[in-house]
Amino acid sequence: MKRIHNFSAGPAALPLAVLEQIQAEWLDYHGSGMALMEMSHRGHRFMDVASRCEAAIRDVLGVPDDYYVLFLQGGATAQFGVVPQNLLGANRTASFVVTGSWSQKAFKDFAGFGQAHLAASTEAQAFRSLPALTDWSLQPGSAYLHLCGNETIHGVEFAEDPPVLPLPVVADLSSNIASRPIDVRRYGVIYAGAQKNLGPSGLTLVIVRKDLCRDVLPGTLSINDYRVMAASESMLNTPPTFAWYAIGLVFQWIRDQGGLAEMARRNAAKAALLYGYLDSQDFYRNPVTPAARSRMNVPFLLSDPSLDKAFVAESEAAGFEGLKGHRSVGGMRASLYNAVTLADVEALVAFMKDFVQRRA
Ligand SMILES: *Cc1c(COP(=O)(O)O)cnc(C)c1O
Repeated sequence: MKRIHNFSAGPAALPLAVLEQIQAEWLDYHGSGMALMEMSHRGHRFMDVASRCEAAIRDVLGVPDDYYVLFLQGGATAQFGVVPQNLLGANRTASFVVTGSWSQKAFKDFAGFGQAHLAASTEAQAFRSLPALTDWSLQPGSAYLHLCGNETIHGVEFAEDPPVLPLPVVADLSSNIASRPIDVRRYGVIYAGAQKNLGPSGLTLVIVRKDLCRDVLPGTLSINDYRVMAASESMLNTPPTFAWYAIGLVFQWIRDQGGLAEMARRNAAKAALLYGYLDSQDFYRNPVTPAARSRMNVPFLLSDPSLDKAFVAESEAAGFEGLKGHRSVGGMRASLYNAVTLADVEALVAFMKDFVQRRA
């Protein structure tokens, strides 16, 4: 068996130790005589999986008791509408910080729910920087302020949690959750599709401060009502049990590795290696202002775009997966999620140097 270097943006690399544990438990889960995927979600074995998963998440992320931890479906994309359905209430306005494709999608999808106030946008800078906090226009009447912690496509990331603001912050952390320690109290809602840093696709982790959950907007389905989902332990309908189980194993792996502080240390080292190389020569470049650069998703351009196809083909032949950039921005992108190792990044930089050499 040969495992490749997986730099995919999502679904993405998972820790090898987690995959091996899944393999070991695959056909006969803990002496049950069946696979976990074959079991009722109401049975004691799966209930135990679900509660251990939540406990590991609360422990690793430091989620206080006055926050719900929910396991929902429809991806981060569904939350663009589910958040307003639960938080908006009668005042019907929300504020948005737009720093790339994902926060822009959330802003646009809000339109049908009420008045969207644009607090800040870097669209005029082609999403290559972040707006200074002093330039955000905060509208006190807004029910919340939405931002995206890490823009997976444009490769810009807020390096720190948002400061304490006069309105609750709703953050899409799909592509940088669990990559460094965070202060959950700085957020009213955190949501994240699992398939970047947390596990396979199929579940969205939603962490929401209980007192922010209002009566949902008229017409909201029960399945999208945070309080109903909390009361039913996220099992109002049949959940994707395999994804839930795998996410629990990933959080236990993070804890075993030394928690979020250790993830942060590794992620900083991986990003420093790749950006250091990108900035040291002229063949490749990263277009993002250094202070705004993402540790998770590193887009890069070849100075001669006519070589893009060759770069993708040769990297795949050499055992690198997922380096082709998002179609909306072109070029390349290396995603450096928790399960990507420093050795993977070292191999990538060696390949990139070799690619240059062969064209000299
Ligand atoms: C991938 C991604 C999404 C979309 O996630 P889905 O689970 O596919 O809906 C939203 N926001 C960010 C920041 C992402 O990286």
